Amino acid sequence: MSTLHQVEPEGETYRLNPEIHDQLMGSSSRPGPLQPKGQPLTLPEPEFPAHPELLERRMTDEEFHKFNRGRALRAWAVPYLQSRWHRKQLRPIVAYLFTEYKCNLDCHYCWAYNNKVKGMTEDTARRSIDWLEDIGCRVLALMGGEPLLRWPFVHKVTAYAASKGFFVYLATNGRLMRPKVIDRLGDAGVSVINLAIDSVEERPELPKAFKPIEENFEYMVKMQRHYGYSSFININVTRINIEDAMELTEIGKRYNIATDYHINETPMMEQEHFKHQDENSTFITPDDYGRIDDLVDWLVAKHDAGYKMANPREQILNMKNMMRGKIEPWSCRAGQNTLIIREDGTLAPCFPTYGATRDWGRVEEPKFDLVQLDEMKESCTTSCFSTLNSIVGHCYDDIRIIKWMAKQAKNRFRGVTGSM
Ligand code: SF4
Repeated sequence: MSTLHQVEPEGETYRLNPEIHDQLMGSSSRPGPLQPKGQPLTLPEPEFPAHPELLERRMTDEEFHKFNRGRALRAWAVPYLQSRWHRKQLRPIVAYLFTEYKCNLDCHYCWAYNNKVKGMTEDTARRSIDWLEDIGCRVLALMGGEPLLRWPFVHKVTAYAASKGFFVYLATNGRLMRPKVIDRLGDAGVSVINLAIDSVEERPELPKAFKPIEENFEYMVKMQRHYGYSSFININVTRINIEDAMELTEIGKRYNIATDYHINETPMMEQEHFKHQDENSTFITPDDYGRIDDLVDWLVAKHDAGYKMANPREQILNMKNMMRGKIEPWSCRAGQNTLIIREDGTLAPCFPTYGATRDWGRVEEPKFDLVQLDEMKESCTTSCFSTLNSIVGHCYDDIRIIKWMAKQAKNRFRGVTGSM
Protein backbone atom coordinates (compact mmCIF):
# COMPACT_ATOMS: atom_id res chain seq x y z
CA MET A 1 0.00 0.00 0.00
CA SER A 2 1.49 3.38 -0.95
CA THR A 3 1.76 6.26 1.50
CA LEU A 4 -0.68 9.10 1.12
CA HIS A 5 0.67 12.61 1.03
CA GLN A 6 -0.55 16.06 0.16
CA VAL A 7 -0.76 17.51 -3.32
CA GLU A 8 2.73 18.09 -4.61
CA PRO A 9 2.68 21.25 -6.74
CA GLU A 10 5.48 20.07 -9.00
CA GLY A 11 5.09 16.37 -8.40
CA GLU A 12 3.54 13.67 -10.48
CA THR A 13 0.73 12.58 -8.18
CA TYR A 14 -2.35 14.30 -6.83
CA ARG A 15 -3.70 13.10 -3.52
CA LEU A 16 -6.34 14.21 -1.11
CA ASN A 17 -5.29 16.02 2.03
CA PRO A 18 -4.45 13.17 4.49
CA GLU A 19 -6.76 14.53 7.19
CA ILE A 20 -9.75 14.56 4.86
CA HIS A 21 -8.71 11.20 3.47
CA ASP A 22 -8.80 9.72 6.95
CA GLN A 23 -12.25 11.16 7.56
CA LEU A 24 -13.54 9.55 4.38
CA MET A 25 -11.74 6.22 4.62
CA GLY A 26 -11.16 5.78 8.33
CA SER A 27 -14.80 5.16 9.08
CA SER A 28 -16.26 1.69 9.09
CA SER A 29 -19.76 3.13 8.93
CA ARG A 30 -20.43 2.78 5.18
CA PRO A 31 -23.99 1.50 5.08
CA GLY A 32 -24.75 -2.00 3.94
CA PRO A 33 -26.39 -2.56 0.55
CA LEU A 34 -29.93 -1.49 -0.17
CA GLN A 35 -32.14 -4.39 0.86
CA PRO A 36 -35.38 -5.32 -0.91
CA LYS A 37 -38.53 -4.43 0.96
CA GLY A 38 -40.22 -7.81 0.80
CA GLN A 39 -40.41 -9.29 -2.69
CA PRO A 40 -37.57 -7.72 -4.77
CA LEU A 41 -38.82 -5.37 -7.47
CA THR A 42 -38.03 -6.09 -11.09
CA LEU A 43 -37.77 -3.95 -14.21
CA PRO A 44 -40.35 -4.38 -16.96
CA GLU A 45 -39.20 -6.44 -19.96
CA PRO A 46 -38.82 -3.87 -22.77
CA GLU A 47 -40.65 -4.46 -26.00
CA PHE A 48 -38.35 -4.49 -29.06
CA PRO A 49 -38.75 -2.81 -31.41
CA ALA A 50 -40.98 -0.41 -29.55
CA HIS A 51 -40.57 2.27 -32.25
CA PRO A 52 -40.09 0.58 -35.64
CA GLU A 53 -41.15 3.82 -37.35
CA LEU A 54 -37.81 5.40 -36.33
CA LEU A 55 -35.99 3.25 -38.85
CA GLU A 56 -38.11 4.47 -41.71
CA ARG A 57 -36.68 7.96 -41.96
CA ARG A 58 -33.60 9.90 -41.08
CA MET A 59 -34.00 13.16 -39.14
CA THR A 60 -32.84 16.32 -40.88
CA ASP A 61 -30.34 18.50 -39.00
CA GLU A 62 -33.14 20.81 -37.97
CA GLU A 63 -35.35 17.97 -36.69
CA PHE A 64 -32.44 16.39 -34.82
CA HIS A 65 -31.48 19.62 -33.04
CA LYS A 66 -35.09 20.50 -32.26
CA PHE A 67 -35.71 17.04 -30.81
CA ASN A 68 -32.60 17.25 -28.61
CA ARG A 69 -33.29 20.82 -27.51
CA GLY A 70 -36.78 19.81 -26.33
CA ARG A 71 -35.43 16.77 -24.50
CA ALA A 72 -32.69 18.80 -22.83
CA LEU A 73 -35.11 21.51 -21.78
CA ARG A 74 -37.39 19.01 -20.04
CA ALA A 75 -34.62 16.99 -18.39
CA TRP A 76 -32.10 19.70 -17.47
CA ALA A 77 -33.70 23.14 -17.42
CA VAL A 78 -36.93 22.32 -15.59
CA PRO A 79 -35.24 20.34 -12.74
CA TYR A 80 -32.58 23.05 -12.52
CA LEU A 81 -35.19 25.78 -12.01
CA GLN A 82 -37.01 23.62 -9.48
CA SER A 83 -33.76 23.06 -7.60
CA ARG A 84 -33.25 26.83 -7.35
CA TRP A 85 -36.67 27.13 -5.80
CA HIS A 86 -36.22 24.21 -3.36
CA ARG A 87 -32.76 25.35 -2.29
CA LYS A 88 -32.63 23.45 0.96
CA GLN A 89 -33.57 20.07 -0.48
CA LEU A 90 -31.38 17.44 -2.12
CA ARG A 91 -32.17 18.11 -5.79
CA PRO A 92 -29.73 16.33 -8.09
CA ILE A 93 -29.71 17.57 -11.65
CA VAL A 94 -27.63 14.55 -12.66
CA ALA A 95 -27.34 11.16 -10.98
CA TYR A 96 -24.73 8.59 -11.94
CA LEU A 97 -26.00 5.04 -11.64
CA PHE A 98 -23.20 2.49 -11.44
CA THR A 99 -25.02 -0.52 -12.85
CA GLU A 100 -21.72 -2.39 -13.10
CA TYR A 101 -18.26 -2.13 -11.54
CA LYS A 102 -16.67 -4.93 -13.57
CA CYS A 103 -14.80 -4.08 -16.76
CA ASN A 104 -13.73 -6.00 -19.86
CA LEU A 105 -10.57 -3.87 -20.32
CA ASP A 106 -7.68 -2.78 -18.13
CA CYS A 107 -6.56 0.78 -18.90
CA HIS A 108 -3.46 1.30 -16.82
CA TYR A 109 -4.53 4.66 -15.40
CA CYS A 110 -8.00 3.46 -14.37
CA TRP A 111 -8.96 2.38 -10.86
CA ALA A 112 -12.71 2.76 -11.43
CA TYR A 113 -13.46 -0.92 -11.72
CA ASN A 114 -13.21 -4.07 -9.66
CA ASN A 115 -14.04 -7.41 -11.18
CA LYS A 116 -15.00 -8.81 -7.81
CA VAL A 117 -17.96 -6.46 -7.39
CA LYS A 118 -21.38 -7.81 -8.36
CA GLY A 119 -23.56 -5.82 -10.74
CA MET A 120 -26.61 -3.86 -9.61
CA THR A 121 -29.84 -5.76 -9.01
CA GLU A 122 -33.11 -4.88 -10.71
CA ASP A 123 -34.58 -4.01 -7.31
CA THR A 124 -31.82 -1.42 -6.70
CA ALA A 125 -32.03 -0.01 -10.23
CA ARG A 126 -35.80 0.37 -10.13
CA ARG A 127 -35.87 1.94 -6.68
CA SER A 128 -33.03 4.30 -7.63
CA ILE A 129 -34.95 5.54 -10.67
CA ASP A 130 -38.21 5.87 -8.70
CA TRP A 131 -36.45 7.77 -5.91
CA LEU A 132 -34.67 10.10 -8.34
CA GLU A 133 -37.96 10.79 -10.07
CA ASP A 134 -39.52 11.71 -6.70
CA ILE A 135 -36.73 14.19 -5.89
CA GLY A 136 -36.95 15.91 -9.27
CA CYS A 137 -33.92 14.43 -11.08
CA ARG A 138 -34.32 13.70 -14.80
CA VAL A 139 -30.77 12.97 -15.97
CA LEU A 140 -29.51 9.45 -15.37
CA ALA A 141 -25.95 8.56 -16.35
CA LEU A 142 -25.24 4.83 -16.59
CA MET A 143 -21.70 4.12 -15.50
CA GLY A 144 -19.18 1.41 -14.71
CA GLY A 145 -16.82 -0.42 -14.98
CA GLU A 146 -18.33 -1.23 -18.35
CA PRO A 147 -22.14 -1.05 -18.23
CA LEU A 148 -22.55 -3.00 -21.48
CA LEU A 149 -21.11 -6.15 -19.91
CA ARG A 150 -24.78 -6.75 -19.07
CA TRP A 151 -26.36 -4.94 -21.99
CA PRO A 152 -29.80 -6.58 -21.58
CA PHE A 153 -29.86 -5.08 -18.06
CA VAL A 154 -28.87 -1.67 -19.46
CA HIS A 155 -31.62 -2.04 -22.08
CA LYS A 156 -34.17 -2.58 -19.31
CA VAL A 157 -32.85 0.33 -17.22
CA THR A 158 -32.84 2.64 -20.26
CA ALA A 159 -36.38 1.72 -21.28
CA TYR A 160 -37.72 2.11 -17.75
CA ALA A 161 -35.98 5.44 -17.11
CA ALA A 162 -36.85 6.86 -20.55
CA SER A 163 -40.50 5.90 -20.02
CA LYS A 164 -40.44 8.20 -16.97
CA GLY A 165 -38.96 11.07 -18.95
CA PHE A 166 -35.31 10.63 -17.96
CA PHE A 167 -32.50 11.80 -20.20
CA VAL A 168 -30.39 8.63 -20.23
CA TYR A 169 -26.67 8.98 -20.75
CA LEU A 170 -24.48 5.95 -21.31
CA ALA A 171 -20.72 5.86 -20.76
CA THR A 172 -19.02 2.96 -22.54
CA ASN A 173 -15.73 1.87 -24.03
CA GLY A 174 -17.72 0.69 -27.08
CA ARG A 175 -16.28 -2.82 -27.32
CA LEU A 176 -19.66 -4.46 -26.77
CA MET A 177 -21.68 -1.80 -28.55
CA ARG A 178 -22.61 -3.96 -31.51
CA PRO A 179 -25.43 -2.93 -33.91
CA LYS A 180 -27.87 -5.20 -32.08
CA VAL A 181 -27.10 -3.33 -28.81
CA ILE A 182 -27.21 0.12 -30.43
CA ASP A 183 -30.61 -0.67 -31.94
CA ARG A 184 -32.03 -1.74 -28.59
CA LEU A 185 -30.69 1.23 -26.68
CA GLY A 186 -31.68 3.69 -29.40
CA ASP A 187 -35.16 2.21 -29.62
CA ALA A 188 -35.47 2.34 -25.81
CA GLY A 189 -34.68 6.08 -25.82
CA VAL A 190 -31.03 6.56 -24.83
CA SER A 191 -30.20 10.28 -25.13
CA VAL A 192 -26.40 10.45 -25.21
CA ILE A 193 -23.57 7.96 -25.72
CA ASN A 194 -20.25 8.94 -24.17
CA LEU A 195 -17.70 6.84 -25.98
CA ALA A 196 -14.48 6.70 -23.98
CA ILE A 197 -11.48 6.09 -26.25
CA ASP A 198 -7.91 7.19 -25.67
CA SER A 199 -5.94 5.93 -28.62
CA VAL A 200 -6.35 5.12 -32.29
CA GLU A 201 -4.66 1.71 -32.30
CA GLU A 202 -5.07 -0.59 -29.33
CA ARG A 203 -2.10 -0.97 -27.00
CA PRO A 204 -1.70 -2.75 -23.67
CA GLU A 205 -1.68 0.39 -21.51
CA LEU A 206 -4.55 2.08 -23.36
CA PRO A 207 -6.89 -0.61 -24.72
CA LYS A 208 -9.84 1.77 -25.21
CA ALA A 209 -9.06 2.38 -28.86
CA PHE A 210 -10.78 3.47 -32.05
CA LYS A 211 -9.66 0.74 -34.47
CA PRO A 212 -11.18 -2.25 -32.65
CA ILE A 213 -14.58 -0.53 -32.58
CA GLU A 214 -14.50 1.34 -35.87
CA GLU A 215 -17.40 -0.55 -37.47
CA ASN A 216 -19.59 -0.22 -34.37
CA PHE A 217 -18.65 3.45 -34.17
CA GLU A 218 -19.78 4.08 -37.74
CA TYR A 219 -23.07 2.33 -37.05
CA MET A 220 -23.54 4.36 -33.85
CA VAL A 221 -22.98 7.63 -35.75
CA LYS A 222 -25.25 6.60 -38.62
CA MET A 223 -28.14 5.64 -36.33
CA GLN A 224 -28.08 8.93 -34.39
CA ARG A 225 -30.34 10.49 -36.98
CA HIS A 226 -32.88 7.67 -36.67
CA TYR A 227 -33.04 7.27 -32.90
CA GLY A 228 -32.26 10.88 -32.00
CA TYR A 229 -29.44 10.27 -29.49
CA SER A 230 -26.21 12.21 -29.71
CA SER A 231 -22.73 10.92 -29.04
CA PHE A 232 -19.26 12.20 -28.27
CA ILE A 233 -15.73 10.88 -27.89
CA ASN A 234 -14.29 11.18 -24.39
CA ILE A 235 -10.48 11.29 -24.32
CA ASN A 236 -8.26 10.97 -21.28
CA VAL A 237 -4.98 12.77 -21.95
CA THR A 238 -2.04 10.83 -20.55
CA ARG A 239 1.70 11.09 -21.12
CA ILE A 240 1.56 8.49 -23.92
CA ASN A 241 -1.41 9.51 -26.10
CA ILE A 242 -0.81 13.12 -27.06
CA GLU A 243 -0.76 12.42 -30.82
CA ASP A 244 -3.76 10.11 -30.41
CA ALA A 245 -5.73 12.89 -28.70
CA MET A 246 -5.13 15.05 -31.81
CA GLU A 247 -6.05 12.27 -34.19
CA LEU A 248 -9.22 11.44 -32.25
CA THR A 249 -10.15 15.13 -32.34
CA GLU A 250 -9.93 15.00 -36.14
CA ILE A 251 -11.95 11.78 -36.19
CA GLY A 252 -14.67 13.50 -34.15
CA LYS A 253 -14.64 16.38 -36.63
CA ARG A 254 -14.79 14.01 -39.60
CA TYR A 255 -17.86 12.26 -38.21
CA ASN A 256 -19.39 15.53 -36.97
CA ILE A 257 -19.51 14.52 -33.31
CA ALA A 258 -18.10 16.32 -30.28
CA THR A 259 -14.99 15.47 -28.28
CA ASP A 260 -14.37 15.89 -24.56
CA TYR A 261 -11.02 15.92 -22.73
CA HIS A 262 -9.72 15.03 -19.30
CA ILE A 263 -6.28 15.33 -17.94
CA ASN A 264 -5.12 12.05 -16.47
CA GLU A 265 -5.44 11.98 -12.70
CA THR A 266 -3.78 9.59 -10.31
CA PRO A 267 -6.18 8.20 -7.68
CA MET A 268 -7.40 10.88 -5.31
CA MET A 269 -7.85 8.32 -2.57
CA GLU A 270 -6.25 5.05 -1.69
CA GLN A 271 -7.59 2.33 -4.01
CA GLU A 272 -6.52 -1.04 -2.71
CA HIS A 273 -7.63 -2.93 -5.80
CA PHE A 274 -5.76 -0.64 -8.26
CA LYS A 275 -3.08 -2.75 -9.97
CA HIS A 276 -0.95 -0.07 -11.62
CA GLN A 277 -0.18 2.39 -8.86
CA ASP A 278 3.58 2.02 -9.23
CA GLU A 279 5.70 2.59 -12.34
CA ASN A 280 2.71 3.62 -14.35
CA SER A 281 3.65 4.70 -17.89
CA THR A 282 0.47 6.78 -18.34
CA PHE A 283 0.86 9.12 -15.34
CA ILE A 284 1.93 12.63 -16.31
CA THR A 285 5.32 13.78 -14.99
CA PRO A 286 6.85 17.29 -14.99
CA ASP A 287 8.89 16.26 -18.05
CA ASP A 288 5.62 16.02 -20.00
CA TYR A 289 4.25 19.47 -19.16
CA GLY A 290 5.69 21.17 -22.26
CA ARG A 291 4.24 18.61 -24.70
CA ILE A 292 0.84 18.72 -22.98
CA ASP A 293 0.87 22.54 -22.95
CA ASP A 294 1.32 22.35 -26.75
CA LEU A 295 -1.59 19.93 -27.01
CA VAL A 296 -3.78 22.24 -24.90
CA ASP A 297 -2.89 25.20 -27.16
CA TRP A 298 -3.71 23.08 -30.21
CA LEU A 299 -7.08 22.07 -28.70
CA VAL A 300 -7.95 25.65 -27.82
CA ALA A 301 -7.16 26.69 -31.41
CA LYS A 302 -9.47 23.93 -32.68
CA HIS A 303 -12.14 25.00 -30.18
CA ASP A 304 -11.86 28.56 -31.51
CA ALA A 305 -12.06 27.23 -35.06
CA GLY A 306 -15.49 25.75 -34.32
CA TYR A 307 -14.70 22.10 -33.56
CA LYS A 308 -17.46 20.65 -31.38
CA MET A 309 -16.08 20.19 -27.88
CA ALA A 310 -17.95 19.41 -24.67
CA ASN A 311 -15.46 21.22 -22.42
CA PRO A 312 -15.75 24.98 -22.17
CA ARG A 313 -12.66 26.74 -23.62
CA GLU A 314 -11.64 27.95 -20.16
CA GLN A 315 -11.63 24.41 -18.82
CA ILE A 316 -9.39 23.13 -21.61
CA LEU A 317 -6.91 25.90 -20.83
CA ASN A 318 -7.11 25.01 -17.17
CA MET A 319 -5.64 21.57 -17.93
CA LYS A 320 -2.24 23.26 -17.77
CA ASN A 321 -2.82 24.32 -14.17
CA MET A 322 -4.48 21.07 -13.28
CA MET A 323 -1.49 18.92 -14.19
CA ARG A 324 0.77 21.26 -12.21
CA GLY A 325 -1.47 21.03 -9.14
CA LYS A 326 -2.30 24.73 -9.34
CA ILE A 327 -6.08 24.78 -9.33
CA GLU A 328 -7.85 27.27 -7.09
CA PRO A 329 -10.78 25.96 -4.97
CA TRP A 330 -13.99 26.12 -7.01
CA SER A 331 -17.67 25.72 -6.33
CA CYS A 332 -18.47 22.04 -6.75
CA ARG A 333 -22.10 20.89 -6.33
CA ALA A 334 -21.38 17.17 -5.81
CA GLY A 335 -23.65 15.79 -3.07
CA GLN A 336 -26.10 18.63 -3.72
CA ASN A 337 -26.95 18.77 -7.41
CA THR A 338 -25.02 15.72 -8.60
CA LEU A 339 -24.49 12.38 -6.88
CA ILE A 340 -23.50 8.80 -7.56
CA ILE A 341 -25.38 5.61 -6.72
CA ARG A 342 -23.04 2.68 -6.27
CA GLU A 343 -24.02 -0.75 -7.59
CA ASP A 344 -25.21 -1.71 -4.07
CA GLY A 345 -27.50 1.33 -3.75
CA THR A 346 -25.24 3.35 -1.41
CA LEU A 347 -24.61 7.03 -2.17
CA ALA A 348 -21.52 9.19 -2.56
CA PRO A 349 -21.05 12.72 -3.92
CA CYS A 350 -18.87 11.84 -6.96
CA PHE A 351 -16.56 9.31 -8.71
CA PRO A 352 -13.35 10.17 -6.87
CA THR A 353 -15.11 9.40 -3.58
CA TYR A 354 -16.53 6.10 -4.85
CA GLY A 355 -14.20 4.11 -2.58
CA ALA A 356 -14.91 6.11 0.60
CA THR A 357 -16.31 4.26 3.58
CA ARG A 358 -18.03 7.36 4.95
CA ASP A 359 -21.80 7.01 5.31
CA TRP A 360 -23.61 9.32 2.86
CA GLY A 361 -26.70 7.16 3.02
CA ARG A 362 -28.51 5.00 0.53
CA VAL A 363 -31.16 5.41 -2.12
CA GLU A 364 -34.35 6.66 -0.36
CA GLU A 365 -32.27 7.60 2.76
CA PRO A 366 -29.63 10.19 1.74
CA LYS A 367 -27.31 11.56 4.43
CA PHE A 368 -25.33 14.29 2.70
CA ASP A 369 -24.12 16.87 5.18
CA LEU A 370 -23.28 20.32 3.76
CA VAL A 371 -20.76 21.16 6.45
CA GLN A 372 -18.81 17.96 5.80
CA LEU A 373 -19.04 18.41 2.02
CA ASP A 374 -17.81 22.01 2.20
CA GLU A 375 -14.86 21.00 4.34
CA MET A 376 -13.97 18.16 1.97
CA LYS A 377 -14.26 20.39 -1.11
CA GLU A 378 -11.80 22.94 0.26
CA SER A 379 -9.24 20.21 -0.29
CA CYS A 380 -10.49 18.13 -3.20
CA THR A 381 -11.47 20.93 -5.59
CA THR A 382 -7.79 21.87 -5.86
CA SER A 383 -6.98 18.51 -7.43
CA CYS A 384 -10.14 17.56 -9.33
CA PHE A 385 -11.02 18.09 -12.97
CA SER A 386 -14.72 17.28 -13.19
CA THR A 387 -16.20 18.70 -16.40
CA LEU A 388 -19.76 18.13 -15.29
CA ASN A 389 -19.38 19.46 -11.77
CA SER A 390 -17.55 22.54 -12.95
CA ILE A 391 -20.36 23.29 -15.46
CA VAL A 392 -23.02 22.61 -12.81
CA GLY A 393 -21.05 24.80 -10.37
CA HIS A 394 -21.21 27.69 -12.86
CA CYS A 395 -24.98 27.27 -13.11
CA TYR A 396 -25.33 27.89 -9.36
CA ASP A 397 -22.94 30.85 -9.27
CA ASP A 398 -25.41 33.75 -8.95
CA ILE A 399 -22.93 36.45 -9.93
CA ARG A 400 -21.94 34.57 -13.05
CA ILE A 401 -25.60 34.04 -13.94
CA ILE A 402 -26.41 37.73 -13.47
CA LYS A 403 -23.46 38.68 -15.69
CA TRP A 404 -24.54 36.15 -18.30
CA MET A 405 -28.11 37.48 -18.29
CA ALA A 406 -26.85 41.04 -18.56
CA LYS A 407 -24.70 40.04 -21.53
CA GLN A 408 -27.64 38.30 -23.22
CA ALA A 409 -29.85 41.34 -22.64
CA LYS A 410 -27.15 43.64 -24.03
CA ASN A 411 -26.70 41.48 -27.12
CA ARG A 412 -30.45 41.41 -27.64
CA PHE A 413 -30.66 45.18 -27.24
CA ARG A 414 -27.84 45.56 -29.76
CA GLY A 415 -29.64 43.14 -32.06
CA VAL A 416 -32.84 45.17 -31.80
CA THR A 417 -31.18 48.54 -32.31
CA GLY A 418 -28.90 47.10 -34.99
CA SER A 419 -31.88 45.94 -37.02
CA MET A 420 -33.73 49.28 -36.76
S1 SF4 B 1 -14.21 18.54 -6.47
FE1 SF4 B 1 -16.30 17.78 -6.43
S2 SF4 B 1 -16.30 16.12 -7.93
FE2 SF4 B 1 -14.17 16.53 -7.43
S3 SF4 B 1 -13.64 15.14 -5.76
FE3 SF4 B 1 -14.33 17.04 -4.81
S4 SF4 B 1 -16.49 16.76 -4.44
FE4 SF4 B 1 -15.87 15.21 -5.91
